[in-house]
Amino acid sequence: MPETSSLSNLAAIDAAHHLHPFADTKKLNAEGSRIIQRGEGVHIFDNHGRKYLDGFAGLWCVNIGYGRTEIADAVARQMNELPYYNTFFGTTTTPATLLAEKVCSHAGPNFNHIFFTNSGSEANDTWFRMARVYWSAIGLPSKKIVIARRNGYHGSTVAGASMGGMKYMHEQGDLPIAGIVHIGQPYWYAEGGELSPDEFGLAVARELEAKLDELGEENVAAFVAEPIQGAGGVIIPPATYWPEIARICKARNILLVSDEVICGFGRLGSWFGYQHFGVEPDLAPIAKGLSSGYLPIGGVLVSDRIADVLINDVGEFNHGFTYSGHPVCAAAALENLRIIEGERLVERVRDDIGPYFAQAWGALADHALVGEAVSVGLMGALQLAADKATRRRFEKPDAVGSAVRNHALANGLVLRATSDRMLASPPLVISHEEVDTMVRITRQALDLVWSEMKL
Ligand SMILES: *Cc1c(COP(=O)(O)O)cnc(C)c1O
Repeated sequence: MPETSSLSNLAAIDAAHHLHPFADTKKLNAEGSRIIQRGEGVHIFDNHGRKYLDGFAGLWCVNIGYGRTEIADAVARQMNELPYYNTFFGTTTTPATLLAEKVCSHAGPNFNHIFFTNSGSEANDTWFRMARVYWSAIGLPSKKIVIARRNGYHGSTVAGASMGGMKYMHEQGDLPIAGIVHIGQPYWYAEGGELSPDEFGLAVARELEAKLDELGEENVAAFVAEPIQGAGGVIIPPATYWPEIARICKARNILLVSDEVICGFGRLGSWFGYQHFGVEPDLAPIAKGLSSGYLPIGGVLVSDRIADVLINDVGEFNHGFTYSGHPVCAAAALENLRIIEGERLVERVRDDIGPYFAQAWGALADHALVGEAVSVGLMGALQLAADKATRRRFEKPDAVGSAVRNHALANGLVLRATSDRMLASPPLVISHEEVDTMVRITRQALDLVWSEMKL
């Protein structure tokens, strides 16, 4: 190895050459990147040999946990047989085709086709074009606008970041692009005021109706939302929200797009988040858990309504990626889905570890710093609050959230903080005992922040 790559100064090399995603580089370089070297089950190990319980499954994606040699073997086999071939000019590869079939087999009767991408962002940019192409093909070319939500996340590409509702992303690069508008989010704790959660769920869903009145539904292509907002803070909508959204989309003839990039592949105890909430979307971008993050792959589930038009009326859809359906990534995804099926991980989340997690994590609600402790399946959040009774939040919400996260990390647990919400999304293979450890370290971190506040 050349001297510049010697492992002892890896942090310095990183600071010198590597621009990280969503990072303040100057600040990061001053602290130095943590170097993660190995993973096993729900644990990761850094270059100092320190062990962490990964309560976040990488970035919401390592559903089957780390170190699964079945995937490494499947990938090595495919690499040796055929490392790459495209799916453009009348060709396919065995893993791409078999993966298409397998994903559809879990997606419900409405979904029988998939378009492959390399990421969740590309999946969102893909359906954004596909939805407009669909409406044009059936003679309604004015239906172009996409309605999305504030504090939603749909990726970092131009359409993805525009449909996302992150202000700090819009501020950079003149987003959103034209034709994308936003309505409110079902975040009752912060924005529900005096309404009950159910009343609030209906009220925010009806913002969609009001927006359609304003824009004219003849100009609107689709509404997009995550079943549960992930990056926005694990915002679990009130029970009234999704049925009302689905009703409005149907009544007003706009497409419903469910961004399944996090909620897909077992996270909520269902194969897809729309199944958990009992709605039938027209399009569903996927990624992350599709391969448990072992290799990059994503896609868009395309319902029969749209696939029929694409196939019979559009002819050529002029869109695709060099690596759409990449055979090695598809082989990794296929093996990942075999593991999820074989170990019945979706059922395990629904019937066993999800309910166990709900109880253990939910018990944190008794802590003085915690306003609510909520979860669905293995996706959970703690809302930190200055006053439980009035849902008043801290004056410096970001500081409180990062303090809890840093204490957890120092004690061997990776949690994420989105402002004053602590997010959990562990691998689906986590044991009861490991859930207990997660909750114990989280409580300890809360205690430490609580005692610091009293100083
Ligand atoms: C992560 C994420 C994306 C973007 O996926 P990438 O693979 O990072 O491009 C899109 N939508 C949701 C809901 C996500 O969580």
